[in-house]
Amino acid sequence: MKDSENHWDVVVVGAGLAGMMAANCAARDGATVCVLEQGEGEHYPCNTRYSGGLFHIALDDLAGEPEVVLSNLHRAMHGEFDTDLAEALIENAPAAIRTLKDFGVRFISAGYDGFRRHSLAPPIVRRPGLHWRGRAGDVMLETLERSLTNVGAQLRRGVTAEQLMMNAETGRCVGVQARHINGPETYHAGSVILADGGFQADSQLVADYISPAPHRLVQRNAESGRGSSVRMAASVSARLVGMESFYGHLLHRDAFHNERLWPYPVLDAVATAGIVVDGAGSRYCDEGKGGVYIANQTARLRDPASIFVVFDEAIWSNAGRSGLLPANPYVVDAGGSLIRADSIGSLATKMAMHPDILHRTITNYNESLAAFEPSIGSPSRSTDRYRAEPIKGPTYYAFPACAGITYTTGGLAINAYAQVLHENGAVIGGLYACGACTGGLEGGRWAGYTGGLTKAATFGLIAGRSALSDLRTTA
Ligand SMILES: Cc1cc2nc3c(=O)[nH]c(=O)nc-3n(C[C@H](O)[C@H](O)[C@H](O)COP(=O)(O)OP(=O)(O)OC[C@H]3O[C@@H](n4cnc5c(N)ncnc54)[C@H](O)[C@@H]3O)c2cc1C
Repeated sequence: MKDSENHWDVVVVGAGLAGMMAANCAARDGATVCVLEQGEGEHYPCNTRYSGGLFHIALDDLAGEPEVVLSNLHRAMHGEFDTDLAEALIENAPAAIRTLKDFGVRFISAGYDGFRRHSLAPPIVRRPGLHWRGRAGDVMLETLERSLTNVGAQLRRGVTAEQLMMNAETGRCVGVQARHINGPETYHAGSVILADGGFQADSQLVADYISPAPHRLVQRNAESGRGSSVRMAASVSARLVGMESFYGHLLHRDAFHNERLWPYPVLDAVATAGIVVDGAGSRYCDEGKGGVYIANQTARLRDPASIFVVFDEAIWSNAGRSGLLPANPYVVDAGGSLIRADSIGSLATKMAMHPDILHRTITNYNESLAAFEPSIGSPSRSTDRYRAEPIKGPTYYAFPACAGITYTTGGLAINAYAQVLHENGAVIGGLYACGACTGGLEGGRWAGYTGGLTKAATFGLIAGRSALSDLRTTA
């Protein structure tokens, strides 16, 4: 019930997909629900609004045979995930899509592959830069707001949750202290659901866990995920997991000042076919582990915006043209500078690095490929996912590059019911979390990506359901 003292059955923090799904599910079945959203505008920025709109699990069909989906997850994560969360994801993802459709969200199949089978309608425009208005995530959030308010629930804009209220005797979460543009507000709640979208835009948390130089990462996101959930829940001793990884891509370095160079196109395909070097000209990671992994390794460098992707004519003409919005020609068309030279020495000079180091890096790399022993290179180069190509001219190329952070994949530890866990492993009563502020499913040592939208929708569904059954039990 809601009364004059601002009591609600369920208070949700964050009106992205995870929060709006949870709120709709709880409200549809009779709970009084209030969603707090820090953004003030009608189209408040969030990652859901900026997203590509593709619902998948580990880049394949979320509704495939469960064993196939599980093996895809294993491949993406190298087996390093919470199995309870994985089972909950696989079991509930198809229901999450059906539920979104019940709320009026429209999907199309944007391709024959499983990756694009569940794509938001209308789909995003494949052009360099950010184009979200009137498409995919933007339309989905408008639809979810309509269905929410149709059942009497509220979405309050311009309200930032700041602190959890806890019952000192029971240890249960009983509400949220928030700040509206007009002053502080108190929200009493039967249950609180945290869904603030992660901590990628909080430079202190990023410095603590991800990169020594947060300001040298391109924010490839809406900059609305500022770590509120992590901070609020950590202050009541919630357990944090997998904080060191993020989902992101390699971007052209000009993306810092050229808006046509983010979030697309990305440099992953050329980087995984060629090599990536630091500012001195040395390789520093296994490019064969993929663009998300390279972005994570890049973030750990002293200067993540000092790197170059190095390749040759053959890579530029082949891998360079692969993907939905290929680097060749879109990066150059969008104004990204491409360095070209007819020798390694001349390329190095143009990259402002010592020619001997780059020469040695490329020669060693080519030799290890020629000996069919890329794994003996230093660092070793795996070839099971991406073919490694030698860099042999006649024309040599380089892109000045950097890491773009899309969303953090670690965060609050939850169980399969989306209940937030205490450091001691017990459930924190009345507190749930879903979406990109939770950890345990993606990320890990290999920076595995399992799909932010499916995770948000599925655990939003679970959190809404769980909060409702909690309410019925405690009533
Ligand atoms: C460019 C881009 C492309 C992407 N493409 C895809 C894709 O095709 N497929 C896919 O699976 N994933 C994709 N993703 C990832 C996906 O968008 C996210 O993982 C997902 O939308 C996260 O949903 P969320 O609800 O957890 O967070 P968000 O959508 O970020 O929503 C969180 C909300 O919480 C609000 N908030 C934050 N702090 C507070 C506070 N203290 N008080 C009140 N409100 C607060 C924020 O303002 C925000 O509105 C993409 C992301 C980006 C940026």
